Amino acid sequence: MKDKKEIPFNKPYLTGKEVHYLYDSVSSGKLSGNGKYTKKCQNFLVNSYGFGKCLLTTSCTDALEMAALLIDIQPGDEVIMPSYTFVSTANAFILRGAKIVFADSRKDHPGMDEASIEKLITAKTKAIVPVHYAGVACDMDVIMDLADQYNLFVIEDAAQAIDNYYIDRTGNKRALGSIGHLAAFSFHETKNIISGEGGMLAINDAQFQERAEIIWEKGTNRSSFFRGEVDKYGWVDIGSSFLPSELISSFLWAQLENLKEIQQRRTEIWNLYFQGLETWAHDNNIGLPVIPSYSTNNAHMFYLVFENIEQRDSVIKKLKKNNILAVFHYLSLHKSEFYKDKHDGRELIESDSFSDCLVRLPMFFELEDSQIERIIKVIKSSI
Ligand SMILES: *Cc1c(COP(=O)(O)O)cnc(C)c1O
Repeated sequence: MKDKKEIPFNKPYLTGKEVHYLYDSVSSGKLSGNGKYTKKCQNFLVNSYGFGKCLLTTSCTDALEMAALLIDIQPGDEVIMPSYTFVSTANAFILRGAKIVFADSRKDHPGMDEASIEKLITAKTKAIVPVHYAGVACDMDVIMDLADQYNLFVIEDAAQAIDNYYIDRTGNKRALGSIGHLAAFSFHETKNIISGEGGMLAINDAQFQERAEIIWEKGTNRSSFFRGEVDKYGWVDIGSSFLPSELISSFLWAQLENLKEIQQRRTEIWNLYFQGLETWAHDNNIGLPVIPSYSTNNAHMFYLVFENIEQRDSVIKKLKKNNILAVFHYLSLHKSEFYKDKHDGRELIESDSFSDCLVRLPMFFELEDSQIERIIKVIKSSI
């Protein structure tokens, strides 16, 4: 058993065309950003998912920072987001001087508890940042209604949510990232579609579309200049260098071309885990991923929720002994070294509980059926 080949937690999948398109971009002589492949990727994403506009970025972190600039966060503004998330969700707004007001997770799911948001809204609240954890949709009707009622912006952290959908109360299927005013996606190598590091900002509210392009291009109107809309370009606003080079976007294009195939295999893997563990989990009071009726499943992640930290850690240890790497993540941000003294002191019990009890199982395109069986067997033998 012990000498069996190691199963990593993640293995970046290459479709085979990445180097081909990379070679094409290199030999074309256009290496900087906003060239042929950047446009191909952006058009594909807008056409596939109905975003208002989309700009590739060098990371989801950068896309979130662009969002904070676009909604003009000022020192003292408050931003509501889950505590159970990655640091970038919060950092983007902290960098502009915002105060983060952390919401708790749902009881049945690590995503933020939509019902807890309204009482966190004050006169200073500027935005709500729902995180579609594991790619699973937050209940966007509830969140968009609050935003309308209190005049707030909604920025979806859709880092994990590519190719997933929310079914709204009228039965419409809407791509995640197309609903909020803005949305940020990641193409980091641990996500479904990858370019090493990489990301994308979806700009659904038309009022931000022109300025987004300026902020993206270092505060210049260079994009309009290249379209022939202005006869010279210059410094017109604040901004930074958020756009990726063509080397990145050519790589990403190979992935997007194979999106269907990638999603199909990930879904098969997710279903194998679910079917293999369902009865055992039920019998042993272990939590499985919950997909609410208003969400589809993009198979970003398969996780288990154990009864306590000791049980969770012992399963990780047992897996490791068997050469299988499973990981846990997200220590609640309100308890982080950086933020604990700035937090308002509220207990966020569900968030802490997911920090203690959740474990992510290996999940990648090339994970074989026999390896999944091996993982399931070890997990079952450890409780
Ligand atoms: C991965 C991730 C990010 C950061 O993405 P990068 O592209 O690495 O900057 C942000 N938020 C969430 C929820 C993530 O999962």
